[in-house]
Order: sequence, then structure tokens, then C-alpha cells
Amino acid sequence: MSTPILQSYVGGRWTGRAPAQVLRSAVNGRPVASTHADPLDFAEVVAHARRVGVPALLALDFQERAARLKALARYLVEHKERLYAVSAHTGATRTDSWIDIEGGSATLSAYAGVGTNELPSGNLLHEGPAIALGRKGSFAGTHVLVPRGGLAVHINAFNFPVWGLLEKFAPSFLAGMPCIGKPATATSYLTEAAVRLVLESGLLPEGSLQLVIGSTGDLLDRLDGADVVTFTGSADTAARLRVHPNLVRHAVPFNAEADSLNCAVLAPDVSPDDEEFDLFAKEVAREMTVKAGQKCTAIRRAIVPRRHVQAMAERIRARLAKVVVGDPALEEVRMGALASLEQRSDVAARVAALLRGAELLHGERDGFAPRGEGVAEGAFFAPTLLLARDPLGDDAVHDIEAFGPVSTLMAYDDLDEAIALAARGKGSLVGTLVTRDARIAARFVPAAAATHGRILVLDREAAAESTGHGSPLPLLKHGGPGRAGGGEELGGLRAVKHFLQRAAVQGSPTMLAAVTGEHVRGAQVRESEVHPFRRHFEDLQVGDSLLTHRRTVTEADIVAFGGLSGDYFYMHFDEVAAKDSPFGRRIAHGYFVLSAAAGLFVSPAPGPVLANYGLDTLRFVKPVGIGDTIRARLTAKRKIDRRRQDANGVGQGVVAWDVEVTNQHGELVASYDILTLVAKRG
Ligand code: NDP
Repeated sequence: MSTPILQSYVGGRWTGRAPAQVLRSAVNGRPVASTHADPLDFAEVVAHARRVGVPALLALDFQERAARLKALARYLVEHKERLYAVSAHTGATRTDSWIDIEGGSATLSAYAGVGTNELPSGNLLHEGPAIALGRKGSFAGTHVLVPRGGLAVHINAFNFPVWGLLEKFAPSFLAGMPCIGKPATATSYLTEAAVRLVLESGLLPEGSLQLVIGSTGDLLDRLDGADVVTFTGSADTAARLRVHPNLVRHAVPFNAEADSLNCAVLAPDVSPDDEEFDLFAKEVAREMTVKAGQKCTAIRRAIVPRRHVQAMAERIRARLAKVVVGDPALEEVRMGALASLEQRSDVAARVAALLRGAELLHGERDGFAPRGEGVAEGAFFAPTLLLARDPLGDDAVHDIEAFGPVSTLMAYDDLDEAIALAARGKGSLVGTLVTRDARIAARFVPAAAATHGRILVLDREAAAESTGHGSPLPLLKHGGPGRAGGGEELGGLRAVKHFLQRAAVQGSPTMLAAVTGEHVRGAQVRESEVHPFRRHFEDLQVGDSLLTHRRTVTEADIVAFGGLSGDYFYMHFDEVAAKDSPFGRRIAHGYFVLSAAAGLFVSPAPGPVLANYGLDTLRFVKPVGIGDTIRARLTAKRKIDRRRQDANGVGQGVVAWDVEVTNQHGELVASYDILTLVAKRG
């Protein structure tokens, strides 16, 4: 059977007929596919993204794109077995592939949730609140984030061919940027299969995703300041691409996630009898063997109190000895192959370099015999544990990354030395501290946070649900400073913001409200005979407002509210103590003011407002005392159409209302947003 030829998806069609580089199975060396020799016209690729992709994506809004992501995640899960079949060639076990394939769709899903819950309707994200810039309230400033109008080039590493693309695609798609994905050639056959599935789903507007198999040619020369480049791979390539003349000339944002020498530190309080001692050994052994150690987050440096080094080495070795290596198709196999023979040579060379300053504690000599047919031609590598002779004096153990099942134990004498060793990685994606002592965690984390993108503090309590040292999570920051590339990926809404452009806007509150689509305090409001709560979602406009009647607060109110709530705080009930307080008198409960305001502004009869589901930014600004008279202003602040329906098929949207409660002098006494669900007319 002839070797299939991979194709690029560019300009709205699959391209590539002539074979170029043969890509081989990591398990048995047999050809899996070949790249295509047909050159790509990158002018066309870029033009397609700009002329077709951008308008098609911006014809949708944040909420609609979030809904597409959600549907896409579901589609990929339904068709995942097609990807598992291809993934086996990369040397990945079922668990490894699960991280890549289902981790990829879970990431899409997580971003769909971010879009639905945290992004507005429309294509402008208001990063409020507005700030008053003048004394009289006629001049204010705020920030908005808008789609950049450009495209995103995502250059990815070989180790996570599916997740690698999807975790970059999701936030850029939400932000309205068409993507050009460039997978690492070695495993591009799996990315190609994933992109075929994504496109088959029919969920993406044309132009929102293109795929480049092979070289990026002159693509980077064609980018401008509206575009973004993200890169995952080696620190060397990152360093080269970062100074690409065209990227520098146009200040094209370049986000890099490079390899890093991540550490795990066993704190001095943990002894071999503690559960935490075993947790440490387990985490190190797992990070060495999952994906055969080909994870940018894997633990390369295991930093352990000197007195426990021997015991820890034995624990880790015992775990490694049980790991069955071989063809991932075999049920008993727990660790597969490296992605290619080139990677195997690379890892071997780096282990040799590390061994100049280290001893071998566990390696090929310890019963390494990959199982399966044809594995002699595969890219298998033995789990390899080293012990650094002089970790403080040797730079190599903190610099050389063997991107395989390799980790180095190193001894320390006190916590300061452990912190210093952790920092010797010169910037890492992640570090783990294993401790039972909260004081050690409180000392270690602030020191280590300057050089780590993420820190896991692991003890028996967290272990019950821990997602592990090596798992980047879509809602937490991934990326790290210094050697790790300086990038900030993932992190929920933060990641989406990387692909949007922020601008400050100044003007009158009325202008800011018109621009942001949100009511800004001080802006003109619309008042009518119709209570805003009696308007359906479609009819309600931001700025629709109600100024309520007044209510004078009496002592009876305070006594009744105290009785009802059980809150007899002295400030409300003890005349003497209240007199000595900063307010000099008894005051009403803040929650009474809140409740009384609701009593003033609600429209009690059944109507389109279906539910009040929360309250944001509550501040009690001034005290309300006996005899003060309050009133409320309720103004529709923000509308979000999540295109949801209730069980009866009635559509509904989210409306946030601005509430200002003032006293008889017109002074603000309480301020907050209430969040409601409002029914649609249809
Ligand atoms: P590279 O840095 O060589 O490649 C990463 C990506 O960049 C690939 O898609 C590669 O494409 C592409 N690339 C390389 N040169 C250029 C260029 N001039 N212009 C545009 N794109 C380019 O890393 P590898 O994936 O080959 O792995 C090498 C090492 O990187 C590993 O041994 C490991 O140390 C580290 N690594 C780090 C990872 C991380 O997540 N941080 C993940 C994987 C690896 P192509 O494959 O076609 O060359």
C-alpha cells in the first residue's frame, strides 16, 4: 500500500499531491504518511484569512463563537476514535492520547464556557468600570478590548499534535481571529486528521482555520501589526523566530512557550514515613513516563533534602521498574516511544551530556526490553533517573533538557538552598512543592513565583483531587518567564484577551455608554411610564431607568430587620456603643438598605423578569440612620444574549442592572449591580 500524502488546508481547499518527507511510526519505524512537496502560496493563505476569515468570524459575536466551540468540542468527542487510531503511530499510549485528544476537546469546552459566561454579546469587551476623570462627572475614561482584525499563526510542537493546536485555536477563535496552524512535521499526520474532523463538522466559518503541512515559507514575512504569532517548541527556535525582522518591524506580538527545566521540591518537613514522600515519588515517576517524558511541563529536576536522597531514589526506582515499555497497542504497556528516531538520538546525546556531572541511578541497564512486534525499529528510550553530583556547582543539570523519560535528583541542605536551586532553571513553566507545612508553602511560593508560571503545592489533602504537576489547565495560566519563553497561554478570559486589542476611551459618560454598550454612571438615561422590569429582553434598552419613590428609615425598621435576620450587631441596637463608634449613632443594617431598595424598585406582578441570580460590586458607601430617607435608581446596565431557552422553550437573556441608593441629600449610600434573567417576547 502506498504511503498517504498529507495535505495542507489553505485558501478553502485541501492541497498537496506530490510526496516529500516520509514520516515514520514511532513504534516500528514503518511509514505512516509523507508531507507534500507542492509549494504553498502564502500570499493566498494570508489573503484568505484576511478577506474571508476575518469578516466571517466577525459576522458572529462572542456568544455565537462560544456556542460553535461548544458544539465543536462535542463533535470531536463523538468522533474521537478516528484520532486515537492515528495517535498510536506517535508512540502514545491510550492515556497519553487521552491527554492530547480529549484534553483538546475539553479545552474547547472550557473556552466555550468562558465565552458564554464571561463575554458579552457583540464584539466589544468592556473592561470597566469607567473612571471619573473630572470633578463634575462630565468626563470619564474606560477600557475596551476589540478584535484585532488580523490573523493568528500558531506554530506547534510535535508532542501534543491535537491539544497543541486546539488550545491555541480556542481563545483566538473566540477573539475573532482566523488561525493558521503549523504543526511540527514529525507528528503532523495526527494534526491533519484532527483538522479534517474539525472542518467536517461544518461548524467553523470558512477561513477561520487553515493548516500548513511542512515549512511556513515566507508566511512570517507577510504578517503585520494586527496579527499574532504563537510558538511552542524549543527555546532555540523561539529565540530565532522572536527576532524575525518582519515581526520586529511590525511589532507583531510573539507568544512563546519553550522547553523548561521544571522542578519538584520535597520540603524538609516530609519524612519517608509520610504519605507525601510517596506522593513525590509518584509524581516524579509519572511525569517521567507519561508521553515518555515528552512534555514541556515534565519534572526534569527533583530537589530533595540530602538526608532523604537515597530513600527517594529507591522509591522512584521501584516505580520505574514496574513501568512496561513497548507498543502502546499492547494492553500491559504503560509507556510508549519517543515521537521519532531523531528525538531518540537527541535525548541520548543530552543524557550523555548530563552524565558528565551526574550518576546514573536507573536506566537502560535495569531490565529495559520494549515489548511488541517490530519495536527494535521504534524510538523507545528507557526511563532514566540521574543523581546530580554537585547541583549548586553544575550548570548543565539546570540547562540541558533531555526531552524524554529523564529526570535528575539533586540534594539540598536547607529550604533557601532548595529555593535557589529551583530558580536555577532560569524560568520554568511549572514547579511542585510537596509539603505538609503551610508555613513552608507560604515561604516557598512567593519566592518561586517569580520564576515559575504555575506552582502546585501538593499534600495528602490536595492529592485526593489533584490534576497533577504536568497538566496545564485551560482556566489557569500556562507559560512561564525566562527560559520557558515568557509566554502566557491559557488562563480562561486572560488568554482570550491576548488575542484582542485593548484601547483606553475617554469622553462623557453618555459617549462611553454608547461606545461600550453598557450604562456608565452619569450617562443620560431613559425614563418612561413603563417599569423596566415589565419590558421583555428585546424591548429593554441599556439606559432604561427608574427612579423610585422615597422611604424614611425608622427605628421600627431596624428592630424588625434585626428580629427577622437575627443580626443584633451593636451598631444597630446598642445606643451607647453606637454613639462611641465612628458613626456616632445607631445605623440601619446594610442588608436592610439592600432589601428596602429591592422593595422600592421591584415590579411585583409576574412579568418578563424571571429570576434574580446574583449581585456584583456591592458597596455600602455611607451609613443610613434612623430618620434618613432613601430612594433607588435602577438602570439597565448590560444585556447578554446567551441564546438560551428555558424548559418550555421560552428564550431568555441576561440583564445586569445598576442600582444606586441615595439619601435625602442625594448622596450615594449603597451601590451594586443585580443580575437577572429576562424572558424574550418570542
Ligand atoms: P522546534 O523548536 O524545532 O520546532 C517547533 C515548531 O517550530 C515545529 O512546528 C517546527 O516545524 C517549527 N519551526 C522550526 N523552525 C521554524 C522556522 N524557522 N520557522 C517556522 N517554524 C519553525 O522543536 P521540536 O518540536 O523539533 O522539538 C525540539 C525540542 O523542543 C525538543 O527536544 C524539546 O526540547 C523542545 N520541545 C518543547 C516543547 C514545549 O512544549 N515547550 C514541546 C516539544 C518540544 P518543523 O517540525 O516542520 O520543523
